[in-house]
Amino acid sequence: MRLRHIPGAEEQIGESPYVIQEPREYRGRWAELFGNGNPVRIEVGMGKGRFLMELAAANPGINYVGIEMYSTVLLKAIRKRENLNLPNLWFLRVDARTLADIFGPEEVDRIYLNFSDPWPKDRHAKRRLTSPEFLAVYHKILKYDGVLEFKTDNRELFDYSLESVPAAGWRIQMYTFDLHHSPYAEGNVMTEYEMKFSAEGKPVCKLVADRAKPEESSRTPE
Ligand code: SAM
Repeated sequence: MRLRHIPGAEEQIGESPYVIQEPREYRGRWAELFGNGNPVRIEVGMGKGRFLMELAAANPGINYVGIEMYSTVLLKAIRKRENLNLPNLWFLRVDARTLADIFGPEEVDRIYLNFSDPWPKDRHAKRRLTSPEFLAVYHKILKYDGVLEFKTDNRELFDYSLESVPAAGWRIQMYTFDLHHSPYAEGNVMTEYEMKFSAEGKPVCKLVADRAKPEESSRTPE
């Protein structure tokens, strides 16, 4: 995502009622913050937040947390969110590397990764959100039967993930190289990047994974 400095972005985020300023204080206590024990689902690298805002409006019985590390991007999400009444949606300005300090074991029910930055150079592989390093963080916070959902237009990152995810002990439940023309298209909620890329005719890849159980290590293609 191209970043242009927005003067005062840090201050506006620091004062925003939609951003949890000290998220580590809620580790193990997210149900208290939301005021209910509903499932907590997070999007890592939410960008401008379109996807989570649509999900939160459609599913008031589910809690959502949007994770974005860049203030300038998060500010755009905050501005959109200001016009919506969504008590089940909070934002965090943090690097996803720190998520295990913010959520306790099994505190998250589902993790969404949408159009994550591809980081094509080998020396940047650890920054990919489907790298072993990030998968280890997700493993710490995700419920035992929780799932990871990943969408991207980037075939190289997707092919990498089809190997990195099972190698880290996860089981790929489904995958497709063309989500919008697959049986999994029904109910799909589009992200900002997804709208842009699909308008350009680029196919969208998707996989869903959970933690491998010893007796179920194979994966089922579309
Ligand atoms: N998910 C949105 C969509 O599909 O429209 C935005 C996609 S954008 C390409 C990826 C976003 O992930 C960027 O806003 C970037 O700042 C964020 N991001 C990348 N690495 C991150 C990390 N380690 N922690 C939090 N956010 C991250």
